[in-house]
Amino acid sequence: MAEKEILLRQIPAIHELTGTLKKRHPALPERLLTQIARKTAELIRGEILSGKRESLSPEEVLKMAEGELIRYQRLNLRRVINATGVVVHTNLGRSVLAQEALEAVVEVSSHYSNLEFDLRSGKRGSRYVHVEEILLELTGAEAALVVNNNAAAVLITLNTLAAGKEVVVSRGELVEIGGSFRIPDVMARSGAILREVGATNRTHLKDYEAAINENTALLMKVHKSNYAIVGFTKEVSGAELVELGRRYQLPVIEDLGSGCFVDFSRYGLLKEPTVQEVLATGVDVVTFSGDKLLGGPQAGIILGRKDFVAAIRQNPLNRAVRIDKMTLAALEATLRLYRDEKEAIEKIPTLKMLITSPQELKRRAVRLKNKLRKVLPSGAELRVVETISRVGGGALPLASPRSFAVALKSPHISASRLEAALREQEPPVIARIEEEALLFDLRTVLPGEENLICKTLEEIFQKEALCQN
Ligand SMILES: *Cc1c(COP(=O)(O)O)cnc(C)c1O
Repeated sequence: MAEKEILLRQIPAIHELTGTLKKRHPALPERLLTQIARKTAELIRGEILSGKRESLSPEEVLKMAEGELIRYQRLNLRRVINATGVVVHTNLGRSVLAQEALEAVVEVSSHYSNLEFDLRSGKRGSRYVHVEEILLELTGAEAALVVNNNAAAVLITLNTLAAGKEVVVSRGELVEIGGSFRIPDVMARSGAILREVGATNRTHLKDYEAAINENTALLMKVHKSNYAIVGFTKEVSGAELVELGRRYQLPVIEDLGSGCFVDFSRYGLLKEPTVQEVLATGVDVVTFSGDKLLGGPQAGIILGRKDFVAAIRQNPLNRAVRIDKMTLAALEATLRLYRDEKEAIEKIPTLKMLITSPQELKRRAVRLKNKLRKVLPSGAELRVVETISRVGGGALPLASPRSFAVALKSPHISASRLEAALREQEPPVIARIEEEALLFDLRTVLPGEENLICKTLEEIFQKEALCQN
């Protein structure tokens, strides 16, 4: 205990540390430097009290303060390099936008725009028209509306069409998406009453039929985005549900979750029903995300029958879940790329990454390995290994695209220490650990990022070497 007290007394006074910083950074405001000094003292204090720190020199104090200063001066939300192989990585921002989408965002948000202005009539217009036409063209839907995200799309659809009434859903489809989106909870908040039918593994058409009564508003299907039920199972298809709905004059809605316009089975991935196919079964309203398999910005897309979509648009909740202009700009530009599927898979990064062939990934892994070999110490073990990428974002849960990665092992630095050090770099590199090695899956590494990975690792190893000498 006495030792800790001695150390605590060595923490410089705030005004002293502020003074030292002021000499080094005369242009920076005093208030900021005082804040840095306080934060630094607080951090050191915490380290001493927790036993993490056993000595303290003025140089160390200064180094920490400078580190804090860098943290204060840089943006919190910034780019990272995704070497995890998870393409639609929700924690890492889901979809990387196409160049066309970025240009549209910059153009529209660095100038005034016709967001809600009808250029033809010179009168007030609607923000929704900008993506309506293209959505109808691409999917064959009767009407379209876009909102903040798919959770909002589900909420407002249920609230509009079923508040105070029952919605029939299979027990096997009561999904939870990461970040606490749960169908039963959203249903409750929408004011609709959940009527679950069937068993977890098996739901029959007769289960839905038996649940229908005079208070039933809707039959609902939810895409099992992030899980699969295998073995002794039975699921009612959208088409069967539509047929049942028609018999009882009940609308059928489907939360597609991811939603895609491209048939991935044509590119060697698992079959995921496209939005066009789902609408063709006669489902009255479908909802899906803009930033999962679609590869656009965060948005919720609602497609379906004209009268239903019109009612949803007029719901006062719509103002609360409204889509903003930057999102609209990015969404419209992304959607336009789908007019030509070849262009879409070439220009929308999410699609491009998903369908990159294992051979191509192997070629890139070999290239990265060779580059790393040149800059890392000879003790570092580098191998090209076959691995499995993930689609992520609660889409195609059973898809396991073959990929290639560079596996790195060092006799001196543990994989978990390397992984943590990479997260501290600029830009941070996010990699995963498998069997004591650090894996860089090339599927999600963007063009030009391989060199950054090399540079970053080179720096980490150099620092480690200095520490050991
Ligand atoms: C992802 C998902 C949602 C939520 O969509 P967000 O765009 O993240 O709000 C809702 N339902 C299903 C089935 C999903 O997969």
